Amino acid sequence: MEQIGLSGPDITQQEIDAVASVLRSGRLSIGPQIEAFERAVCERVGATCAVGFNSGTSALHCGLIAAGIGPGDEIITTPFSFIASSNCILMVGATPVFVDIDPDTWNIDPHKVADRITDKTRGIIAVDVFGQPARLDILRPLADKHNLLLVEDSCEALGAALAGQSAGTMGDFGAFGFYPNKQITTGEGGMLITNNADIASTVRALRNQGRSQMAGWLDHDMLGYNFRLSEINAAVGVVQMQRLDEILGKRAQVATWYLDRLQDDPRFICQKIDDDVTMSWFVFTPRLSDDYTEQQRNNLIAQLREQGVGCSNYFAPIHLQGFYRQQLGTKLGDFPICERVAGRTIALPFHNGLTEDHVDRVCRILTATVERI
Ligand SMILES: *Cc1c(COP(=O)(O)O)cnc(C)c1O
Repeated sequence: MEQIGLSGPDITQQEIDAVASVLRSGRLSIGPQIEAFERAVCERVGATCAVGFNSGTSALHCGLIAAGIGPGDEIITTPFSFIASSNCILMVGATPVFVDIDPDTWNIDPHKVADRITDKTRGIIAVDVFGQPARLDILRPLADKHNLLLVEDSCEALGAALAGQSAGTMGDFGAFGFYPNKQITTGEGGMLITNNADIASTVRALRNQGRSQMAGWLDHDMLGYNFRLSEINAAVGVVQMQRLDEILGKRAQVATWYLDRLQDDPRFICQKIDDDVTMSWFVFTPRLSDDYTEQQRNNLIAQLREQGVGCSNYFAPIHLQGFYRQQLGTKLGDFPICERVAGRTIALPFHNGLTEDHVDRVCRILTATVERI
């Protein structure tokens, strides 16, 4: 039986040729490819500065350092996300303060944020979950009123928009990720996006061992990291950016095939997409209705895998991870909407290699198996 994988990159001969030509050039780091990649992302999203990183996490981490976030500071964020959006807060010694999610869109509930603001709050990290921008339009005035940093973790949302404004550009800085399951990939990689030139120049130094751009190779102005993106990776990104519309179009097509088959089935609930959102499909992850338990969802995943369908729970609530429970004292029941959604999600195979026949097969197996859990 043919396996249908959960995710997979869309790589063509063009990316392969671009990598080969970097390897032949002899210039494998800090060269023209990263500059071209940064320029392409800037132009696409309409930002003034983009700084390439070796991961989305390192971009978020350095952005928080550049914004002066540190020990004693509280940052409000969502528990329903990939763990990196919260880990970056711990990495700078600050404390994540979680706010529950909207039950329909699964993004941070912007109307619950104000209640969690204290005199220690310094910022908000909103995550564009599964490629749908969080309500930065509601969070922006709140952040301004309380003088808070506003960060948009758009690692799952390159190409998305909210009321016509590009994901990644609506906070003081944003971040994209280029791991192989993202919309576009560089193998590993990330990018920080900002219109704030001070943040941009500080993160450029931070990713490069604390070297300021003007100083010599062995002058280090601050404690920095090696978070550089190699020319080999950046060259893949340059080609992927040229192909972005084609890639996003294929993903939207696969999502439409799934929606046609599942969105009216009462056993499943699909993420609600707000009317003013341009979606950039990252995954296709419906959830089971409230009639089902988490155990039934886990059974469903196991049985689908046995039948060759790649799938996963997505995400596991961050506040229930062991070291979060230990460090923050968070526990089951703290964020009931997040737990209700996260306990029932099922990420289905989603990538550009899928045909309508594949989606048909996945949905047929899914709807038959859900009767036996
Ligand atoms: C992928 C992702 C990141 C960054 O991940 P890296 O593996 O470090 O590139 C950050 N936040 C979210 C929400 C993500 O999905």
